[in-house]
Amino acid sequence: MKDKIAIITGAAQGIGKACAQAFAKAGATSILVDINEPIDQARELVEAGLKAESYRCDVSDKASVMETISRIVDKYGQIDAAVNNAGIQTPQRPMAEITDEEFECTVAVDFKGVWNCMRYEILQMLKQKSKGAIVNISSQGGITAFPGQAAYIACKHAVIGLTRTAAMDYAAVGIRINAVCPGVIRTPMAEELIRRNPEVERELIRDIPAGRLGEPEEIAQAALWLCEPKNSFIAGHALLVDGGFTIH
Ligand code: NAP
Repeated sequence: MKDKIAIITGAAQGIGKACAQAFAKAGATSILVDINEPIDQARELVEAGLKAESYRCDVSDKASVMETISRIVDKYGQIDAAVNNAGIQTPQRPMAEITDEEFECTVAVDFKGVWNCMRYEILQMLKQKSKGAIVNISSQGGITAFPGQAAYIACKHAVIGLTRTAAMDYAAVGIRINAVCPGVIRTPMAEELIRRNPEVERELIRDIPAGRLGEPEEIAQAALWLCEPKNSFIAGHALLVDGGFTIH
């Protein structure tokens, strides 16, 4: 990934932060994007001798995404890789009890956010001779379902549908689009879920053949691998990284 420019959304913490570290360690310039500008996270990488910069962007807001991508392209001239990772969880309730506001908020970030980012990343990559690679972060919940998470799970299924279709649209021109489907990963998002219901952790581990939760770095490695130019024939794939959870 030497000299490549990689955008990672939701890079302030968790999986996004681990992706930014992994891409930078692989030689790329990591562009850390988050709703609160991840200045310190980018500085940490630069202080470690890596290449990184931070931007503030709300992925649910088309204008904010357009502006951010255009500032990045003005500065760096290209986008070689993108990890569309920013996402939120909805409070856990049976479907009919999820409010319209919660539903719309989840769709705005978890689905429309990926749509917005992908669209402007693709429009830029089409202008570049070397094109590029995109990874969308779905979930094991993009393949299976969990009670009480109808809005989140529907969005994660949609991200896989979007990934597959866009991969077909752009594979022939050399833009590779794939998804990573994390299992339960120890990030602030998962910690919050466990904090609200401590029983959940025991129950989750019971159903994971690997016998533990995943680490953000394990998702970052999968996203990095899918973006590496040597993996040039992988398109429209949804890669489960879940310790075997979905084998059941
Ligand atoms: P996380 O720790 O909550 O981090 C998500 C980051 O995205 C946060 O920094 C958050 O900022 C940011 N963000 C939220 N809304 C945004 C917006 N509108 N625009 C830009 N940035 C925004 O989450 P994570 O656990 O690392 O999850 C990352 C991705 O993996 C998500 O798409 C999630 O659905 C998926 N995933 C996670 C797990 C898991 O077990 N952790 C499992 C399957 C899939 P704020 O904190 O300021 O809101």
